[in-house]
Amino acid sequence: MGSYAVPFLDFSGIHGPLREEFGQAFQAFLERQWYVLGSEVSRFESDYAQYIGQGHSIGVGSGMAALHLALIAQGIGPGDQVIVPANTYVATWLAVAYTGAELVPVDPDPWTANLSASGIQRAISDRTKAVIPVHLYGMPCPMLEIMDLARQKNLIVIEDNAQAHGARLGTKMTGSFGQANAHSFYPTKILGALGEAGAITTDDDGIAGQLRMLRNYGQRERYQNEVIGYNYRLDELQAALLNVKLKYLDVWLEERHRLAARYDQGLADLPGLRLPPEVKDGRHAYYLYVIHTDQREALQVWLKEKRIETIVHYPIPPHRQQAFAKYGWPEAAFPVANQLASSCLSLPLYIGLSEEKQQSVIDAIQEFWRRYQS
Ligand SMILES: *Cc1c(COP(=O)(O)O)cnc(C)c1O
Repeated sequence: MGSYAVPFLDFSGIHGPLREEFGQAFQAFLERQWYVLGSEVSRFESDYAQYIGQGHSIGVGSGMAALHLALIAQGIGPGDQVIVPANTYVATWLAVAYTGAELVPVDPDPWTANLSASGIQRAISDRTKAVIPVHLYGMPCPMLEIMDLARQKNLIVIEDNAQAHGARLGTKMTGSFGQANAHSFYPTKILGALGEAGAITTDDDGIAGQLRMLRNYGQRERYQNEVIGYNYRLDELQAALLNVKLKYLDVWLEERHRLAARYDQGLADLPGLRLPPEVKDGRHAYYLYVIHTDQREALQVWLKEKRIETIVHYPIPPHRQQAFAKYGWPEAAFPVANQLASSCLSLPLYIGLSEEKQQSVIDAIQEFWRRYQS
């Protein structure tokens, strides 16, 4: 993995042990000669729905497609407002833009980096139709409060669960609270395909039917097009590989927790360094282990010199992207999003990260603090 002693991500630890199972799945896939929306997709849909605890899971081609269809299936379009976090990955915003609805960004809680019910409440107008809470970095949003508010205000809730497979509040999984919820299986995600894939989960039979139709050219029966649909189908090969991986998801989540706990311990008590918040009565999925410091630039350079790779998720919030220039938001419009973007740094955390490599990351950060921060 390049010239880094500790890369940000390395797939050999997660995929290496699965080579044989992947091989068998691929041979069976070749034998079946069925490539799109077949038995592997159906199996993945029912197993993933069960894992998340929803009645339906509809496989699609990406997390982006999942968000887009979740909005369309609920009739969201021009004239509607949709509340989104100001600090999410751009896909959340793009999905709303595709529908023609108006984006209403809301600054997150500075501590959790997630939307709060009070933040959402302040942004509600008589045109607000929906809200998309994003469980950023795998940290669950306060869904009980958000769902209460949504019931009072008659809002549709679509969770963006792209980063949080396996996160929980109490015993309930994220991605099971909203009316229709989007999941991504992009390769780097906690549950990743070996290519593009996504899903929408819902308990609503009617929405599930709409989604199945919309992902496949708007048809329920072949060559009968009831609505303007899309080609957002999930292919059999990705579903087959996801079927191999899904059964290990809980084991991997435990490993992510062990790794996060080691960082928590090793980096505790460094002045001015903020570690990820803990989840009371629930489970963080630790898609990313994100620290915050106003010395972010210097720390990242320091770690790079020590051949430790880190990434910033995300350096420029969507409201400052050229793609959204027509909205005319001033740069300072979302101060919390700006502050988080300039202080966040994601440390290496992946299945198979050795104790020795992780310790070298901890040691390097401690050395930085001894030299420059005291
Ligand atoms: C990855 C991601 C998406 C998009 O998923 P793709 O499968 O890459 O299309 C959407 N929202 C968030 C928060 C993501 O992290």
